[in-house]
Amino acid sequence: MTNPQLTEQAAPLRPLEHPGLARRIWPFAICTLIALAAALIVRPGGDPVGLIAAVALFAAIAATIVAVPWSRFRAGAQTLPPLFFVAAVAFLRHDTGGSDSAFSALMALPVAWFTLYGTAYEIGVCVVVVAVGLGAPVALIGGPDYPSADLLRTLVLTVVAGTLGFSVNKLVRLQREREEETSSILEAAHESFISVDGEGLIRRWNRQAERDFGYTADEALGREAAELVVPAVVRSEFRGEIVRAVQTGRSPILGRRIEVRGLRRDNSEFPLEMTISTVETAAGLQFHAFLHDISERRDAEFNLQQAEERFRRAFDDAAIGMALTSPEGRWLRVNRALAEMLGKSVADLTGFSFREITHPEDRDRDTAALSALVVGEIDRYQAEKRYFHADGSVIWVNLNVSVVRDPAGKMLYVIAQMQDVTERREAQKRLAHEASHDPLTGLPNRALLDDRMGMALARLRRSELPLAVLFLDLDRFKLVNDSLGHEAGDRLLVEVAERLGRLLRPSDTVARLGGDEFAILCEDITPDATATLAGRIGESLARDFNLDGHTLSVTTSIGIAIDRDPDVSPGTLLANADAAMYEAKTRGRSRYAFFATEMRTRASGRLEAEAELREAIEAGQIEAHFQPQVDLSEGRVIGIEALARWRHPEHGLMSASDFIPIAEESDLIVAIGDRVLEASVAHALAWHKRGGNRLRVTVNLSARQLTGPEISGTVANLLDRSGFPPELLCLEMTDRTFAEDLEGALEAMSDLRDLGVTLAIDEFGVGTSNLGLLRGMPEIGVLKIDPSFIRGIDGGRAARELVVAVIHMAHALDMEVVAEGVETATEAGLLRELGCDAAQGNHIGRPVPAAELDERILGVGQGRP
Ligand code: C2E
Ligand code: MG
Repeated sequence: MTNPQLTEQAAPLRPLEHPGLARRIWPFAICTLIALAAALIVRPGGDPVGLIAAVALFAAIAATIVAVPWSRFRAGAQTLPPLFFVAAVAFLRHDTGGSDSAFSALMALPVAWFTLYGTAYEIGVCVVVVAVGLGAPVALIGGPDYPSADLLRTLVLTVVAGTLGFSVNKLVRLQREREEETSSILEAAHESFISVDGEGLIRRWNRQAERDFGYTADEALGREAAELVVPAVVRSEFRGEIVRAVQTGRSPILGRRIEVRGLRRDNSEFPLEMTISTVETAAGLQFHAFLHDISERRDAEFNLQQAEERFRRAFDDAAIGMALTSPEGRWLRVNRALAEMLGKSVADLTGFSFREITHPEDRDRDTAALSALVVGEIDRYQAEKRYFHADGSVIWVNLNVSVVRDPAGKMLYVIAQMQDVTERREAQKRLAHEASHDPLTGLPNRALLDDRMGMALARLRRSELPLAVLFLDLDRFKLVNDSLGHEAGDRLLVEVAERLGRLLRPSDTVARLGGDEFAILCEDITPDATATLAGRIGESLARDFNLDGHTLSVTTSIGIAIDRDPDVSPGTLLANADAAMYEAKTRGRSRYAFFATEMRTRASGRLEAEAELREAIEAGQIEAHFQPQVDLSEGRVIGIEALARWRHPEHGLMSASDFIPIAEESDLIVAIGDRVLEASVAHALAWHKRGGNRLRVTVNLSARQLTGPEISGTVANLLDRSGFPPELLCLEMTDRTFAEDLEGALEAMSDLRDLGVTLAIDEFGVGTSNLGLLRGMPEIGVLKIDPSFIRGIDGGRAARELVVAVIHMAHALDMEVVAEGVETATEAGLLRELGCDAAQGNHIGRPVPAAELDERILGVGQGRP
């Protein structure tokens, strides 16, 4: 919206430039009319020439004022009409009595007019012209009409008119400037200014009011304010207040800032802040109202409120814990989730310092982080930390902190978000525990033991005494597993772990390495104390374990490595203890052995041999050779014993005693045993088919095979598949087997016996077997006398007596007696005389491959040996 008033005000208007015609014309028009009327009254019958000239001049002046675009001419041109007016008045005066004419007073009009509307210069010109208009007739005409005294009067008048004119003009201009200044301030104001008179009519309406309410000044001025800008609901109240103010000079709406609603041209309402003051004027009481549109502020307030509400909701209802924290670390505000997380109420936590419930180990770190946030070193902070729950337990939270600062960068508060990660932390802890512990016994595992050994070795430098590693292997654990089941085996391991734990100092570590192997790490211990400990472990484990009603005890072989060299590796330490344990096992189990360097060489040689043997089995280098057994009285071959041989690519044919012990320490013996059994039955069947004697085939069984879970199944299956007569299969076992697991061995033997297989006891008399034991066994068909008994029979009587006793005892138990390792004809002859049933040995025939034996077995026999 443009403002013509303002642009026009930029250059002050001069009288004849004023756009309002009335203002330009009325003084002159009125004077003209007065002059005409006066002329008619004063000189009704006289000569009208002067009068006509005056009237014509007045008319011309009026027409000029209206028609001429004065603003286009120089300012001085505006003085012309008043000057002509002066001339016209001079004519009129002359016509009505000259100096005494009543019209002389009209001479003052141009001066007065310029005083009000003109400039000082125009007043000056005007005063001079008027002086000339009054003075000139005195000089030119003179006489009674214009006495010379007029000159003096003219002079006085001129001085008075000029002085008054200049000072009044100055006052008027000053007043006008003030008015313009006020007006420009009000127009430029960003508040609506509405002036209302005592009747409630709008008298002033500035530009901002135009913008705010939508009415131009022309439209608004003179209208009733209540009707125009006050909403209908409060209109009558407003009117009432105006009336009250007019009558009493008082109203609550006066003199203070109040919030009201305004009505726009489009009938929409908007909030306003209004201040009304009153001014007493000649026209009565005037109300000046300043109105400030506060819709934007209201919108902003509303938006802020909304934002705050949203924030409050998001904060209070968040699923994760949140807190607004002061720079000092106090919780200004906390949400429900946090309160729940910590087991307290929101009210309890508000005002709380986070330090009070932070775990002491996290306190310093968090406090340092808060200080760094406050000074602006960092803007965010993230950490996992611990709080104390109301019930005293520790909870883990993932903390995320960010800072809210004021525009100057000063920290206002900190927003902390906290997520309960206790479960995850615990799971991690569990995982870490699982990774370093044996799940069955809960003991540290190999990895953790390695770790602890590493630390113990590092501490060795500062310690006086060495450290010891004990390697334990339970003897015959596999038998427990196989006979009582894995659950019982597991329980045994758990109980063993408990017993070991009870024997140790808190600083010692007991670990389970896997299977039935345990290791113990002791620091600061003497060799003697270690030996004592090993002894106590042996005793403790030898006491009965009760597993599901089965009572059993275990023996353990313990290897001890003692070291005070901090540079040794944990691996070496453990390997040394392992080698020592192996030594203890080979020395007859159920004992302990200290590590000595040569054990390492033996141990590693053993491992290599085992690996080589495994490859040999896979490569088919293991074969069965056969050694004949002859009936001593008839000299006839009655059977053959299968003996394993290793056809070694480098060392040639190797005897069973060279590799069977290695195989017996591992499961390899099972594979070898199966192979020999299969081969033996296959060859024997072939011989039978080819019409040979119905030879008995003897196969050796190791303890591990016999007490293993599969033996009876394996044999039954073989017999089934091959159709081989069970009674011709003889299975040999040594009394070493009984020493290890008598119960298991007896059970397996009776199963085998049930299959119809013949059982034989090998190497009788060498081990711990006794005659009483034989009595409790299932039917044993054959008893083999060990070569060591045979060796002396041709020399001393005592040796012979022993053999005789065995033969008698065996015969009494219905057993066939076979002498082993018969090397000479003398031995064979003596044995026959002593009543021995059969013999086997190099004298009769060395073990040979099946093909070489064929002829001898297929034949009827060789006669007496
Ligand atoms: P064993 O069952 O007592 O076997 C007899 C051993 O005496 C054989 O040794 C045999 O070669 C040897 N021998 C035979 N005649 C004479 C002789 O006149 N004088 C002397 N000094 N020795 C003689 P080998 O083959 O080295 O077997 C040693 C042991 O290995 C066997 O003792 C047996 O317990 C075991 N063995 C052999 N083959 C197998 C097998 O396939 N499975 C199992 N589990 N053990 C086997
Ligand atoms: Mg044998």
